[in-house]
Amino acid sequence: MSEPNTQVVDVLAIGAHPDDVELSCAGTLLRMQAQGAKIGMVDMTRGESGSRGNAEIRAVEAQNALKILGFEFREILDVGDLQIQDTHDRRVKVVECIRRHKPKLVLTHWWRDKHPDHEGTSELVKHSMFVAGAANFPAKYEPHNPKRLLYWPSTWMMEPNVFVDVTDYWEKKLEAARAHKSQFFDPNSSDPMTVLSQPVFFERLEMRARYFGDQVGVKFAEVFYMREPVLVKDPMTLWA
Ligand SMILES: [Zn+2]
Repeated sequence: MSEPNTQVVDVLAIGAHPDDVELSCAGTLLRMQAQGAKIGMVDMTRGESGSRGNAEIRAVEAQNALKILGFEFREILDVGDLQIQDTHDRRVKVVECIRRHKPKLVLTHWWRDKHPDHEGTSELVKHSMFVAGAANFPAKYEPHNPKRLLYWPSTWMMEPNVFVDVTDYWEKKLEAARAHKSQFFDPNSSDPMTVLSQPVFFERLEMRARYFGDQVGVKFAEVFYMREPVLVKDPMTLWA
């Protein structure tokens, strides 16, 4: 068995399936990377039970997407596609992942979604973030408390309270998302149709980013929900 990855990063984005991070927050991650942050990607599963592609194809696509994004690593926790729930064994995996990489910021799915794996990931990550800092939780590595958790919306929309201008990173985000070829429209594919594989999917993704961008005066925005209130030390930065 190879040694576990203990690379420390500033930001950890944790998605249920291999394309979730790309579709939801890759623009924000690219923006933070451009500002000097170290970024790690975590997939809860290999997407092995999805309707399109298979684990082998998806592993190649996921690595291609990582190369485009240029993040530090992409790690798979392999907790079972269509089986993601907040259980003790899975918490140990997520806690050890957080403790090994010591992120300051974690991003994951919002807790209400059509896909049960997205809801499961949200709960699992939120609870694991808390116990990752508890010295007596029975898991390996030094306790670590990330400072913030941002939730991204997937199928269903929440009322976001964090908007990030991703205009400069939009094309690269799309390029990385499209690396997951098996998931999207292909007239020659005989795999079953899904929401993602409809020809209009990327139009809808763009429409959403433009709609939220419009609300904050930029071309494209990714949006999040943060539960904790923000303390503004210098109120003048609010109009800077
Ligand atoms: Zn997903």
